[in-house]
Amino acid sequence: MKSIGDGEDTSIWADKWIKDDFPRRPINKELMMDLNLRVSSLITSQGGWNLNRLKELFPPCDVTQISSFPPVPTLKDRFVWAYTKDGRYSVKSGNWVLGREATAMELVPENIQSLNKLKETIWSIITAPKIKLFLWRALSGALAVAECLRNHGLNIQPMCAICNRGEETVSHVLFTCSMAAKVWSGFNVPVPSQGFSNSVSQNLEYVLGLIGKTELDPRFRSAIPWLLWEIWKARNSVLYSARNPDHHFVIATALEEAEEWLQQNQQISQEREWDSRNRSRVHRFWTKPAIGVLKCNLHSSWINEDSFCGGAWIIRTHTGDALFHARDAFLPFFNRIAAELHCILWTLQSLHDLHISSCEVWTDCAAAISGLENPHEWPKYRSILGRILQVVRVMGEVSFKLSSPKANSLAREIACSVTRDGRLTSYLAL
Ligand SMILES: [Zn+2]
Repeated sequence: MKSIGDGEDTSIWADKWIKDDFPRRPINKELMMDLNLRVSSLITSQGGWNLNRLKELFPPCDVTQISSFPPVPTLKDRFVWAYTKDGRYSVKSGNWVLGREATAMELVPENIQSLNKLKETIWSIITAPKIKLFLWRALSGALAVAECLRNHGLNIQPMCAICNRGEETVSHVLFTCSMAAKVWSGFNVPVPSQGFSNSVSQNLEYVLGLIGKTELDPRFRSAIPWLLWEIWKARNSVLYSARNPDHHFVIATALEEAEEWLQQNQQISQEREWDSRNRSRVHRFWTKPAIGVLKCNLHSSWINEDSFCGGAWIIRTHTGDALFHARDAFLPFFNRIAAELHCILWTLQSLHDLHISSCEVWTDCAAAISGLENPHEWPKYRSILGRILQVVRVMGEVSFKLSSPKANSLAREIACSVTRDGRLTSYLAL
């Protein structure tokens, strides 16, 4: 590395003249840098470091590093061996460097092993797939933070733009940045006694380990994956949309999202269970209704909470002839059950408009039927269930029945044409 004399022969940005664990060039605080700049431009006429200039160019950690080794303006810069105190090469120090590199290489497999184990743990966490992927990327150094981008050769400012108090690494953003630290201290789980470390794998292992600690508040520990995700989203909104979310807001959003997702997943598994219990008494193929009875099959096609839903119904007579069928696109709903209930309401309102006052309504969504049969057990859907039952009272004789998906295939096919083929125009056919 370079030892600074008068600084004339050393380039600030191209030469290695900072002794950290390894010799290196200083960290640039600004995005733009003048590659012709010599270290001599940092030295005052009195022969000491120009501290104001150092602070302008380098982050605080490097200012300390540089000012610890005053320049010697009476001497020329020269190369020194970085691994002895006096800068002279010795066989002993050479062996020490080689030995250290060997140890570092031996350590790698063990590190990789524990990292792989942690990555496996991530896939088994009960959370949304997008969050699993995010955690996996955080662990793999595949998030667009300054450190990872610089590792890919992008010359961008290494410091964290939010707190300006450290290099922007994944661990910094998620754990030690001023913003993240506030979130963790306001979140009802214990943080490590010495604070979070600089190692993202160590920190993730710690916080993901908290999920299984039954003595902690279940609401908080199950929201930990969402909290990490929300911290990441908050960082992005500060950097890219100049919004600065309050840490209370970050915590509240994580708790809400976690609760919503867990509840919905529980409902889906309940629905599956209900489905399998009822399968035996459900016809596998569409059958004609009894003479004089109208049979209406309906279906809503729901993909996710951000997409339009499709809805369709078809009403047939006892001869199997279609009397009417209709299709519509609905605004996004937060889950499949909400979409199906909305579709039922829309169907009944349409039938009522067509002066049909009695029919069987067949859906393949077991949860929707269960909600209509026992509205008090589904308080979350109280308002839509109430509206459906109100239309039923006005119409007269309406009964709800569970169809197998196969027997409901025609309504399913029409509803799916909305979400699959983007057929957003509604129709009613006679
Ligand atoms: Zn920061």
